[in-house]
Amino acid sequence: MHNTPPEQLAKFFELSPDLFVFSNASGDYRMLNPAWERILGYSLEEFIQKPTLHYVHPDDLPETMRVRKALVEGAAVVTFENRYLAKDGSWKWLSWNAVPQPDGSIYAVARDISLQKEDEKTTQQLLRKLEQRNQELDQFAYIVSHDLKSPLRSIINLSEWIKEDLGDALKPEVAGQITMLQGRVMRMQQLIEDLLKYAKTGRGEMPLETVNLNHLVEEVVEGQARPVGFQILVPKPLTQIAGRTIELYQLFQNLIGNAVKYRAADEGMVSITQQEEGNFWLFKVQDDGIGIDPKHHKRVFQVFQRLASSEEIEGTGIGLALVQKIVEAMGGSISLQSQEGKGSTFLFTWPK
Ligand code: ADP
Repeated sequence: MHNTPPEQLAKFFELSPDLFVFSNASGDYRMLNPAWERILGYSLEEFIQKPTLHYVHPDDLPETMRVRKALVEGAAVVTFENRYLAKDGSWKWLSWNAVPQPDGSIYAVARDISLQKEDEKTTQQLLRKLEQRNQELDQFAYIVSHDLKSPLRSIINLSEWIKEDLGDALKPEVAGQITMLQGRVMRMQQLIEDLLKYAKTGRGEMPLETVNLNHLVEEVVEGQARPVGFQILVPKPLTQIAGRTIELYQLFQNLIGNAVKYRAADEGMVSITQQEEGNFWLFKVQDDGIGIDPKHHKRVFQVFQRLASSEEIEGTGIGLALVQKIVEAMGGSISLQSQEGKGSTFLFTWPK
């Protein structure tokens, strides 16, 4: 640019959407570009009638004066933000870059960042609202679960007492019905427990830990009831990942548990493998069970969604929704490859 004639540079001065200002050491001479008129709404003649500080927001005055002093004393490049009063009474946020010259004069450029500031404010407000909603939801989940669980406990107790009171008069038929009733109540208890787990998951409130997946999967496998012929395979050692033990336990327990529940035969199998994929680990949980028709692949990840093929098998339809929530809260994703009668493979990614 050092060869550019002054009149050409002047064109840039005119054109710039940013505010340019040059002032001499005493601050009584100011050269302003037309952007000032466009952004603040005053004509330049009108604007320079008053000292600059007249336009600065009272809350920003102390900082503005401190910066000015630093500039006069020869600070290098100075960047800061303050608000200027526009002619229509609104405040414009300006982001400044200023350099002092040896003779005390100052060159400064400012950008109007009012829209950006407005966006930041909206985002903050939205975040606060979201946080509040989350807290309300938490409370709701606790209250609902607590209030729903205690009457359920009473039903179980009462039905026990009825059985006891009837003693020998209890017909086997009625005894069977009472047992069924208790089974339904326990199922409802399970549903509430699962819902509460789902509500609490993925909030990022617990700190991340380094989790050794070999140990974790081993624990899941030990706790997993299954027919003797059913194999749970981990062909290659897994790694350590950053996550939360409870969530990872729930994740593998649900995927492995489903493979066992929805098996095609008691001699079935499920294998768990891990491979690198860019910045993520890709996990595959593959079974040779009853499989899932592709038209239901989306549905199975939704809360309470179960398929007709699984109606006789215990479940609340929350497991996969929970797994998806855990994976997505970490920035990963989950998908499913399966066809009816051909086994299922659940694939999910986890950041390294
Ligand atoms: P639940 O097992 O409690 O019903 P999930 O959310 O874990 O709930 O699963 C939703 C549905 O997806 C199940 O009811 C079942 O129909 C189907 N499903 C899940 N995992 C498998 C699997 N490995 N093989 C076949 N079907 C499955």
